Amino acid sequence: MSIQLFMPTFQVEECLNEIRECLESGWTGIGYKTIEFEKAWSAYTGHPYAHFVHSATAGLHLAVKQLKMKYNWTDEDEIISTPLTFISTNHAILYEKMKVVFADVDEYLCLDPADIERKITPRTKAIMYVGIGGSVGKYEEVVALCQKYDLALILDAAHMAGTRFKGEIPGKEADVVVYSFHAVKNLPMADGGMVCFRDKEDDELCRKLTWLGINKDTFSRTDTKGSYKWKYDVEHVGFKYHGNSIMAGIGLVQLKYLDRDNAYRRQLANWYDEGLAASKIHTVDIPSNCESSRHLYMILVNNRDELLLALNQVGIYPGVHYQDNTAYRMYSDGRGTCPNAHRCSEQLMSLPMHLQMTKADVTYICEQVITYAK
Ligand SMILES: *Cc1c(COP(=O)(O)O)cnc(C)c1O
Repeated sequence: MSIQLFMPTFQVEECLNEIRECLESGWTGIGYKTIEFEKAWSAYTGHPYAHFVHSATAGLHLAVKQLKMKYNWTDEDEIISTPLTFISTNHAILYEKMKVVFADVDEYLCLDPADIERKITPRTKAIMYVGIGGSVGKYEEVVALCQKYDLALILDAAHMAGTRFKGEIPGKEADVVVYSFHAVKNLPMADGGMVCFRDKEDDELCRKLTWLGINKDTFSRTDTKGSYKWKYDVEHVGFKYHGNSIMAGIGLVQLKYLDRDNAYRRQLANWYDEGLAASKIHTVDIPSNCESSRHLYMILVNNRDELLLALNQVGIYPGVHYQDNTAYRMYSDGRGTCPNAHRCSEQLMSLPMHLQMTKADVTYICEQVITYAK
């Protein structure tokens, strides 16, 4: 018996049909399915603009870059972010040579609004908020802080595909929301991401920057009549960040099942809650109005490293999300500034969470965790 942390599930036949359509039509690049997927994502989330990129990392980079351009931020300016995240989140800030100021996490392991407020300086320009594991944490309070201090808000929603808050997809208040469709995220493709800017002009610029700064994509050029369709202008030093139709085709299929799949993840989480309820094991809660995508099911234990090894011995392969980013050399400036995140990062464990698991798997994992956890 072996239960892995993550295991993506694909609707193989339906995905192959989408890919076949791309191959037969001879259109595998940007345009065609990428446009279809962007429209489907907008309709699903209610975000007015959605641009499909090759990864959330690319999307987060553009988010910081474009807001820096738009608001004339300088290299000395600061963005408040969390140390408990995948490094893409914070690298996006460093790509643009701005300063990462870490704030601590709260009981949901998301940024703690009280500590954010303590870390705001005259140089603070934005908050980079991560909905870890699919939770919203205290997102509403963070939105209020952004309004109070006139800060931009970037929502790293890499774990949040399908998460709802008070019945709605959150993020409408943010300047930009970025999703990931990486192979082991909630809506897996192989790689992909979506950048959802709130403002139209930001979305328009984003579409140029993801294709090297060229001002028209190939698809619309083939639509235009006449012999000048090869002509385009280059307005910016952009990047090669856009997504392609093969990935978008997979996304179109996966999106149809996202709500069903997330509901099953919440079922697995409920079974974990029940299985661990009688023990003293600390499980990371989800706020009451949040219907989480349940990308992760996290617990905190004192003997994390020992427990990981013990579970591996019995065929269970949990993970750790994440190592406190200030432990990395690139972010060592922030050491000591976020004691709660630091302590949690030594105790955190993500239990297996994927669609091929059964109730019996969860029961077995709970038994083993209770046996070996301290
Ligand atoms: C996975 C992840 C990313 C990066 O996503 P990619 O699509 O792989 O670039 C960014 N932020 C968080 C919190 C993530 O977990």
